[in-house]
Amino acid sequence: MTGQPHANLPADPCELAPQYIRAIAPYQPGKPISELAREMGLEEASIVKLASNENPLGLSPKARAAIEVALPELGRYPDGNGFELKTALASRYHVPMAGIVLGNGSNDVLEMVASAFLGPGRAAVYAEHAFAVYPLATQARGARGIVVPAKRYGHDLEAMARAIDADTRVVFIANPNNPTGTLLAPGEIEAFLRAVPPQVAVVIDEAYNEYLPAAKRYDSVAWLARHRNLILTRTFSKAYGLAGLRVGFALCDGRIADLLNRVRQPFNVNNLALAAAAAALGDDAFVRRSHELNLAGMTQLTAEFERLGLAWIPSYGNFVSVEIPRAGGASRAGAVFERLLRRGVIVRPVGGYGMPDHLRVTVGLDAENERFLAALAASLRA
Ligand code: PMP
Repeated sequence: MTGQPHANLPADPCELAPQYIRAIAPYQPGKPISELAREMGLEEASIVKLASNENPLGLSPKARAAIEVALPELGRYPDGNGFELKTALASRYHVPMAGIVLGNGSNDVLEMVASAFLGPGRAAVYAEHAFAVYPLATQARGARGIVVPAKRYGHDLEAMARAIDADTRVVFIANPNNPTGTLLAPGEIEAFLRAVPPQVAVVIDEAYNEYLPAAKRYDSVAWLARHRNLILTRTFSKAYGLAGLRVGFALCDGRIADLLNRVRQPFNVNNLALAAAAAALGDDAFVRRSHELNLAGMTQLTAEFERLGLAWIPSYGNFVSVEIPRAGGASRAGAVFERLLRRGVIVRPVGGYGMPDHLRVTVGLDAENERFLAALAASLRA
């Protein structure tokens, strides 16, 4: 039947893609600096990007040195088992190597969870305003998403426990959540873990964990021993400053790790990422600096929001969502976002997260925050 259209089928492969794939609304990333420079005729160096929760300090010097050492090895495939990085993680978190899964960013790990546990006829539970990858990963498997209304922008864990039905195989929780920055107390999560049926996998996505103030830290790793359905995900993209290299990981029971590894691409984490992440993990001074800079920048941003009379959602991440007051009942967040762009400042609209009146801004360096705040004040007046 070479070249012959198959009877009764459309002659277009796109029309034959599963309906649940065609229905996906693509992820909206932060606008790259180079794109805005092209569009507005601006110098790249004059643009401030506070749109993707990146680390304004760049990467740890130890990670940079490790990358230089690893460069000559780029002709070879990476270690598909990530032995050195897993060894470093096992010793840092006091977990067995068999309970660690490495990902091309923690996003990759979230996708592996969806591949391993979801499919048509199955469901995942997640919160309104939760990180966009949960619905995306769920829909891409043809599974049903059960969206639980938020409570003051945060996860309502009691309602999420009640929302679990017979088809539910995964619950996704972000702590802190992006883009709201809301944080659950450890006691609430522990009560939730006790309430969830043991056959439902619970993902606690802790991408922003390293930004938590000392008083809010909690030992989620200790829960793994009691809850074999628990999957913790972490990343090197934020406080470790390696967003461009793409490396994250899951800590979980060895049996879950084994399943995730079956759907993992054999060489999903590249040579440079493996080397840099292992070095960054040992650079406590850099993580401390990132943490302190973030706290100072968060205070700088929210103090000015206060002065400008703007409401914001208190955030435990390296970003904060600020509410742009409506004018005559109409949302102005989109217009303010555009005005900021014209002033060379990129932030993130979050209408796609059901927050049409907010803009999410990443905490930057002192001077970047100042640029943003001045541009915001001017854009609100304009
Ligand atoms: N989880 C949350 C809550 C996030 O905000 C992000 C990054 N936007 C990720 C996971 C994925 O990050 P990465 O793939 O870079 O580890």
